[in-house]
Amino acid sequence: MNPYTSYATGEPIADTKAPKGPIAERWDTRRFEAKLVNPANRRKHTVIVVGTGLAGGSAGATLAEQGYHVVQFCYQDSPRRAHSIAAQGGINAAKNYRNDGDSVHRLFYDTVKGGDFRARESNVHRLAQISVQIIDQCVAQGVPFAREYGGLLDTRSFGGVQVSRTFYARGQTGQQLLLGAYQALSRQIAAGNVEMHPRTEMLDLVVVDGRARGIVARNLVTGEITTHVADAVVLASGGYGNVFYLSTNAMNSNATAIWRAHRRGAYFANPCFTQIHPTCIPRTGDHQSKLTLMSESLRNDGRIWVPRAPGDTRPPNEIPEEERDYYLERIYPSFGNLVPRDIASRAAKNVCDEGRGVGPGGQNRRGGAAGSPVEGGGGRREGVYLDFADAIRRMGRKKVEEKYGNLFDMYERITAENPYEVPMRIYPAVHYTMGGLWVDYDLQTTVPGLFAIGEANFSDHGANRLGASALMQGLADGYFVLPSTINDYLARVPALEPVTGDHPAVAGAVAETEDRLRRLLAVDGDRTPDSFHRELGELMWDRCGMARSDRGLREALDRIPEIREEFWRRVRVPGTGEELNQSLEKANRVVDYLELAELMCLDALHRTESCGGHFREESQTPDGEAARKDEEFSYAAAWEFTGTGRAPVLHKEDLVFEYVHPTQRSYA
Ligand SMILES: Cc1cc2nc3c(=O)[nH]c(=O)nc-3n(C[C@H](O)[C@H](O)[C@H](O)COP(=O)(O)OP(=O)(O)OC[C@H]3O[C@@H](n4cnc5c(N)ncnc54)[C@H](O)[C@@H]3O)c2cc1C
Repeated sequence: MNPYTSYATGEPIADTKAPKGPIAERWDTRRFEAKLVNPANRRKHTVIVVGTGLAGGSAGATLAEQGYHVVQFCYQDSPRRAHSIAAQGGINAAKNYRNDGDSVHRLFYDTVKGGDFRARESNVHRLAQISVQIIDQCVAQGVPFAREYGGLLDTRSFGGVQVSRTFYARGQTGQQLLLGAYQALSRQIAAGNVEMHPRTEMLDLVVVDGRARGIVARNLVTGEITTHVADAVVLASGGYGNVFYLSTNAMNSNATAIWRAHRRGAYFANPCFTQIHPTCIPRTGDHQSKLTLMSESLRNDGRIWVPRAPGDTRPPNEIPEEERDYYLERIYPSFGNLVPRDIASRAAKNVCDEGRGVGPGGQNRRGGAAGSPVEGGGGRREGVYLDFADAIRRMGRKKVEEKYGNLFDMYERITAENPYEVPMRIYPAVHYTMGGLWVDYDLQTTVPGLFAIGEANFSDHGANRLGASALMQGLADGYFVLPSTINDYLARVPALEPVTGDHPAVAGAVAETEDRLRRLLAVDGDRTPDSFHRELGELMWDRCGMARSDRGLREALDRIPEIREEFWRRVRVPGTGEELNQSLEKANRVVDYLELAELMCLDALHRTESCGGHFREESQTPDGEAARKDEEFSYAAAWEFTGTGRAPVLHKEDLVFEYVHPTQRSYA
């Protein structure tokens, strides 16, 4: 038996900060009970913020505006190039401008249900409440949200909901929101309140006397290793979907900041909860290093279908209407093409498994879980149509262009097919990670003084994130939640001893980092870091992707340590550590993926239920839908690190549902 799977179960953890009382009053109560730091004292505190995406950018700007001294990091050349800039479709808010029955409670309800009842009610309700403020804040900053004829902000619908609550700026919502946060951050940089370190990567966390007190970082241009100390550290370093190698994430998004924090004591929650997005451009071959998302907003007007008959290779416009299967509309008539992402993704996989996929076949080796009929993929066709012919007939091409023009252009540039004339082809791809560092209601991890916000934490989306909710959560965390809760930590913490570079905790973290980089350079093997990353990604997609099975996960858990061992024997990193060395950066990130992947598979193995993005083949209803096991698994799984390759300890946070009672999700 693999010793890694013999994990122990430790003390349960409780979210001790969420106040009792009516859910709608909890956030007000918490803010009132939280201690404040006197404005004059704030400038005496230094806060490190790692990341400048929507979560980090908004947090850094807001903390500096409050008077804290902020030291901020990103690995891009400019804070405004963070991965958040790629977000296309929109941001949710319970404004109810459409008067279509939306409310804070409905957004809360949809999010808890959409997350398959694996999120904490108090957090989700707060998120829904704050959503309304986010839109006001961003409008005040000048974010150019789309407007409708009457002047009100326009909205559209995203999956898993029956109201129209998604605010957008064409297909560039993330970019426009990030420019808003970036201008607020730039103001604080110019004012000297934020010390910005671009092109600098955090490689370790410094923990002194059990509290997060700083980071070890590497200047990516010169290779210089530096240390930075502070009174608190905030990780806003994004998600870890790139552990699968191919994903819709930016190429450089990685897990290092949160994984290194995990190794220093921060519990990692629900690592197996990965979101596979249904509308991505299908993979075309082995040469690819990146997948491209087509925004979920397209499902507002595009209709998804495949041929009724398996093996039908006729061009789409030669397949008559009665020989098409609009399978989402057929199986889920109430939500149709707007079912949540996990459901739409699995349905696409199912029709492709039945041999009804479209597009070129034989190129895509990625397949189903071990033992499934399509194990390894086997060259089947992986694609379904997303067809706008009806929408163009109904609204006219001009209107479709106005709504989705830039997405259509992007699709055509990548595929050389004109989606105004032939249906788009789409297939699910890894997109977002619901798992992340465990945080309490204050967004504090299990390491006092270490906070995690945005996609880096596990908090609000349960086992499946609804579309347009990541931007909402990142900005809620950064503009509103963290700036209130961090005060409480800083006000209560006993006077912190000054920490200098020769403190053993700092020197130890630096020595470990330098040693790791030296070892990577010294192997001098014959395989690139990328080749290991690709191999790991293939394994993860096959065994821990859209469908997981006991057998497949155990195989992956046996294989990952072998890849890790081979990595340390055969990796080749040219150049030196004292220069710009992207191979070294990559290798160091792969080291962390090779450990994180193991934890993801263990988490997936131990959760023998299906929920949200985690579909266990052994746990399905007779009609093939995901079957949750609430009695056994109504908890967040928070894992404690005990050493590389050593079985971690599982701590459970029981989930209590007082307002939205778990039911089998139905979108039919
Ligand atoms: C293609 C695409 C489209 C999307 N569209 C939408 C959408 O329409 N609506 C929606 O709600 N969500 C969308 N999402 C999800 C959403 O974009 C992300 O979840 C969100 O932007 C994450 O924001 P973040 O601030 O947490 O992290 P990121 O934007 O990923 O920022 C991470 C930051 O951390 C820094 N960083 C990371 N590690 C380190 C380190 N070790 N050292 C120093 N700095 C570090 C990076 O430099 C960067 O500044 C989309 C995602 C993708 C991939």
